[in-house]
Amino acid sequence: MKKIAHRLFNDFLMPSRLDELESVLLAALSEGYKVLSIDGFLNVAREGKLDSRSRYLILRHDIDTDVATARSIWQLERQHGICATFFFRLLTADIALMSEIHDGGGEVGYHFEEIATVAKRKRLKVTSNLDHLRKHAGELFCENLAALRLKSGLPLCGIASHGDFVNRSLGIINYELLTPEIRQSMRIDYEAYDGELTDHLESRFSDLMYPNLWNPLNPIVAIKRGDRVIKLLIHPRQWRSNPLENAKDNMLRVYEGLCYYFGTVLGLMPFIIPCENCL
Ligand SMILES: [Zn+2]
Repeated sequence: MKKIAHRLFNDFLMPSRLDELESVLLAALSEGYKVLSIDGFLNVAREGKLDSRSRYLILRHDIDTDVATARSIWQLERQHGICATFFFRLLTADIALMSEIHDGGGEVGYHFEEIATVAKRKRLKVTSNLDHLRKHAGELFCENLAALRLKSGLPLCGIASHGDFVNRSLGIINYELLTPEIRQSMRIDYEAYDGELTDHLESRFSDLMYPNLWNPLNPIVAIKRGDRVIKLLIHPRQWRSNPLENAKDNMLRVYEGLCYYFGTVLGLMPFIIPCENCL
């Protein structure tokens, strides 16, 4: 019951906490941290120019929902000269904002979820044929990424796996669709969970729904103690209530859940069309 109350507060009543996010970023800047996008950090590392006396904060945004708040976060960071990474899902791919971020020096990437998409289409409850699921999801990933690149005119070479209720239900993450062949043919520069990036991290933090706010704790602690490389993952939804967007997203999640578990909702066919090859 408490959890539901917190969710309702987070989604519909919570005032903007963007000033708190700003204070974390300002703390990093004032402590001398270089605040970088993922590709910005990897470029420095690949050139062998990581300075042992420097401190780095890698800033990543997963735009799961709420493009309007994502835009506010981008504008806030721009005011302080920060250019971070923003990963967009197909559902949130706002081409105007993506172009604005790219043109302003930020990094735009693809937040992919094709294993979950295929599992929903097939209404897979058990992973009896993992290879087929991975293969089909891999093909869909290539199609979706190519289409998004064409539509946006952006390279989208950095990608990050999204987590969905179906992934949790099946116990398989979207990352698993990535084969060396797909990485090569789609010119993938990195996936956000690649060891090439994570091996550098001394600590990592992500935002959480009210009232916990941070996992595992407020990153200012790590900034103050001077951790060498910190990664910060931010989701727009945790920073300002956007009641209309959150209501739409909650209804979509309920609808998808009903379609996935029961096949139809109130006699209507699911909006997702089953794949003929998988029937
Ligand atoms: Zn996500």
